[in-house]
Order: sequence, then C-alpha cells, then structure tokens
Amino acid sequence: MINILDKKFVPLITTEAIETRITALAKEISTDYKGRCPLFIVVLNGAFLFASELVKRIPLSCEITFIRLASYSQTQSSGSVREIIGLNDSIEGRDIIIIEDIVDTGLTMAQLLRQINELSPASVAIATLLHKPEALKTPVDIRYTGFNIDNKFVVGYGLDYDGMGRNLDAIYVLA
Ligand code: 5GP
Ligand code: MG
Ligand code: MG
Repeated sequence: MINILDKKFVPLITTEAIETRITALAKEISTDYKGRCPLFIVVLNGAFLFASELVKRIPLSCEITFIRLASYSQTQSSGSVREIIGLNDSIEGRDIIIIEDIVDTGLTMAQLLRQINELSPASVAIATLLHKPEALKTPVDIRYTGFNIDNKFVVGYGLDYDGMGRNLDAIYVLA
C-alpha cells in the first residue's frame, strides 16, 4: 500500500510484468513495420515512460515526436479535449504509431485520431500501455494493448494522480 496525496493505492501490475509485455509489443511492432519508417507520436505527459521503454526495444529506422493534449482532472475524465500542441512534423504519407498511456473513455483518442487522419497519413495505429474496456464511450481501434484493466483509477509508470506518482516503476490502483 502506498499513499499519494490524500489517497491510498495498492499494487496492480509489477515492473517485471510491464517490461515483459512491452518487450512482446516491441517485437510485434518491429515485425509489423519491417522495412518501413514509422513516426511514433508520443502523447505527453503520461506516455513518456512507456514510450521510452517501448522504442528502445524497436530496432527499426523510425522517428519519434511528442505532443500534448490535456483532458483529465484529478480522477474524473472531463471528456473535453484541447488542441494538439507541438505537432510540427509532416504526417502526410507517413505510417503513424500513436503511443498513449491509457485509453479510458476513448474520447481523447477518438478526437486525436480524427485530427491526425485529416493530415492524410498512410496509416495510423494506436499503442497503449493500458486500456479500460468497460469505460469505453466511443469505439477506438487499438492495435497494440499492454494490459486491459478494470474501470478503476490507476497511477504509476508515467500516469499521475494530480501530478504525482509518474515516477513509480509499477502500476498501482486506487484502494
Ligand atoms: P480518455 O477517457 O479520454 O480515454 O482518457 C484521457 C486521459 O485521461 C488518458 O490519456 C490519461 O492521461 C487519463 N486517464 C484515464 N484514466 C486514467 C487513470 O486511471 N489514471 C490516470 N492517472 N490517468 C487516467
Ligand atoms: Mg494520456
Ligand atoms: Mg493525468
């Protein structure tokens, strides 16, 4: 059990399990994109750790870029998404792999996908460390999922509770 601010969290997914799963995802992506040069778009802040552990296991020629979009306050999804910040790369004709920390309601990802698709990429795939299938409010086609989890608030491995807990090397769930 750990305390973050006013809340208690208990372990959900260990470091070892996360790293084993990321290694498997990296192999899958390396095979699927062999001979291509994907552009990874990392959604900050939450995906920073997952992305770094993933891409260092993918020995492809590739590019990596970072965007921000804020949509979450405390432990409740607001459902409203702000514009993409920091996407200066040319998307047209590229094979895009979006790297996310978690797909919860899917509203963030659905809106991001719409905006990316307007820029005429050759293809778009989503890689997310976590997914809460029960929380989904709009269909999202996720190509690479680390773990499906219950509809409960989690922290660690890049994910925060009110800015805290991103540095935890495992995933914890609200007790
Ligand atoms: P959405 O509900 O739009 O799918 O999720 C939006 C964003 O909310 C995610 O990318 C993630 O940053 C954040 N989020 C969703 N569920 C959780 C959660 O359980 N814990 C944390 N820390 N963030 C979450
Ligand atoms: Mg996120
Ligand atoms: Mg957050």
